[in-house]
Order: sequence, then C-alpha cells, then structure tokens
Amino acid sequence: MGLLLAPAAIAQETARLDIGASSLISEKKGWWGRPSLELTLTLSQAVPYRAVIVGDPPRLIVDLKDTDFDELKPSQLFGHDSVPGIRWGDFRQNWSRIVLELPGPYDITSAGQRTLPPQATIRVALDPVDEEDFAPLPSATAALRNLPEPAVLPVPATPPEGLTVMLDPGHGGIDPGAIADGENEAELVLKFAKELKASLEAKGITIGMTRDSDVFVGLEARMTAAREAQADLFLSLHADALPTGQAAGATIYVWTPRADNRAAQQLATRHDRSDLLSGVDLKGKDDQLASVMMDFARTDTQPRSENFASFLTSRLALHGIGLHDRPVQGAAFSVLKSPDIPSVLLELGFITDPHDRANLISPEWRKRMVAVVTEAILGWAQDERARTAHLRQ
Ligand SMILES: [Zn+2]
Repeated sequence: MGLLLAPAAIAQETARLDIGASSLISEKKGWWGRPSLELTLTLSQAVPYRAVIVGDPPRLIVDLKDTDFDELKPSQLFGHDSVPGIRWGDFRQNWSRIVLELPGPYDITSAGQRTLPPQATIRVALDPVDEEDFAPLPSATAALRNLPEPAVLPVPATPPEGLTVMLDPGHGGIDPGAIADGENEAELVLKFAKELKASLEAKGITIGMTRDSDVFVGLEARMTAAREAQADLFLSLHADALPTGQAAGATIYVWTPRADNRAAQQLATRHDRSDLLSGVDLKGKDDQLASVMMDFARTDTQPRSENFASFLTSRLALHGIGLHDRPVQGAAFSVLKSPDIPSVLLELGFITDPHDRANLISPEWRKRMVAVVTEAILGWAQDERARTAHLRQ
C-alpha cells in the first residue's frame, strides 16, 4: 500500500481527473430491463486502483490512489444521471473513492487501465444481473491492482499511543503442531511469542496472547480473544512442517477470500453475530446480508493486513532473514478471517527443514527475528496512524 510518508514520495505527482474526457455511458440491450454501464475515467497519469461491487444497496466502488478531484463535481460527469447517484472524495490517506449507486444488481464484466503517456484511462464495464445471481462479494483483494511496495521508512522510536497487538502462538496442548528431531512447533512458537512480547512491551505496546502456556485454544477462541482485547493487529506465529515441493524460509500469509462466500457464511452462522463485527449489529440480519457486511468491512481490513505483510517482508529482507521465494501468500486459514482486525500469519520457518530448525532453536537468530518483527509493527502502526489522522481532518 502507498506509504507516502517518505519525503521523496510526498513530492510524487498527484493524478488529476480529466472530466471532459471521462463519462458514464449506459446502453440498453433490449426493450426492457436495466442498461449496461461503462464508467470511463481519464487521468493525467496511471494510478493504482481497485473496483468492487458491494450490496445493500448495490454500489460500484472505485478507489484511486493519489488522485485529486480538485473542485470537480460528480454532476459535471457526462452521463451522471444514468445512475441514482454518484459521490466522490478523499477516502483515506492518498486514496480517493468514487461511489456509484446502481439502479439494481450488477456485475463487473471487465475492468482495466490503459496508458497513453502521460494520460491513463480506467474503464469499468458493468452488466445488470438477476437478484439471485448478484454476488457482491468478489473479494476486495482480487480487485486490488498494481499496489506498490512500501517505501523503506525510518522506524519510529515509540509506537502510537494505545496500540494493542494480539500474538497468537499456534497449536498447544493436545495439538503439538509439527514435530521434527525432538522439537515441536507449539513449544518453539510459544518461546518466540514470549520473547516478542517482551520486546514489544519494552516499546510501550500493549500485548495480548491467545495462550501463554502449553494449552489447547480453538481457532475461533483465538479470534475472539483478539476482538475482546480490541487488538489493532493479530499476528499468528507458526513453524510448520515443510509442504512437499515448497522452499523453506520465513513465509507470511494473509487471508485470501477467493470468493469464499460459503466460509464467510458459515462463520456468520456459527458465531454470535455481535461478536463478529464490532460496531455493526448483525443480529436479525440474514446470512447473506451478514456476509456482505463482513466483506464490506474487509474491503478496509484486507489492505491493512497486506500493508503489514509488506512491512514485514521489507524488514525481513532488509535484515537478511531468509525468506521463502514467494514470501507473501494467500491462504484460507480460518484464524485470519476476522473481518475487522488486520490479521497475518507468520511462518517463522519450517521445523522439518534442518536449516530453519537450527535457526528456530538458536537464541541469537530469534533475537534478530524479534527485532525485525518489532520494527515492522512499529512502522506499520505509524503508517496506520497517519491514515487515521488524515481521515479525521
Ligand atoms: Zn502451525
């Protein structure tokens, strides 16, 4: 995500909307029914963007990075009256958001950005769909485009006030996790979590642990613990057996919804609903709506999880900790499913790999790793705080 705190990055140019060359075209394909829609945005330069459909009521959301609408009004857009409403404005730091209220359920049929330097054109095409085919859960992640790596920023000495992190050492009790050469995962990750806790607390960060001894804790109890602590970040720690054919090294996982609607619905069904999404009462809503609202919350949470994953990767690389070839991967680990708490799973290494195992049991290596994760959390928190401050302006 865009971390435009570095002085060099602040000087970066902002894209401007060329409203005369932008439009919303509607085209009726039959005698009745709703028209197809095509939104064209011409910008002074290419920008990262994402497009996503959300429900209740049906809307198209287009987020544009580093884009300034100046004093432009949606009513100046050619074809603005072909939908019930259009709004736009600053969304969060360095991101602007366009919201198109749709005249019914629609689907994105294509979205793309074409550059003709210096200009760029983003086109999002929508077709009407029947109510029963309306799927407003196309994972915000899948819609993320061209997000740049974070800049390497100076790490602040102190964290923003009131920062709470929930550490989640995996497994425990009846579930020892992966076992190799007399070592077990549950014990190793607990030892690491305790060392990390001490390091973070020394920086003034409030730390919760889903377990601090060798006990079994269910996956959902881990998420609930994070919510009860009002954690700003959930960090799950593992050191699993190396899957066949996979390279060793530290690996970071973020939730991949991959249109996993059923999983979201199961989660919504199984939980006490007020437990799932703080601030929004889902009691009495049907499952479909609950999962839509969860996904809507996740459109904000997912980029924040990915942002932390980027911070972690760049810090690991910077400090020469061995990384997997694809250091950030998506996975449907249920423990990462919290819709409203940025959640990341860190495989410190693989216990079945002799080199990784030697690292994991080495106090010196763990000390380095603890320092790296501490730095990543401080850097990420600073970036989060900058965004929030901007939102309050
Ligand atoms: Zn594990």
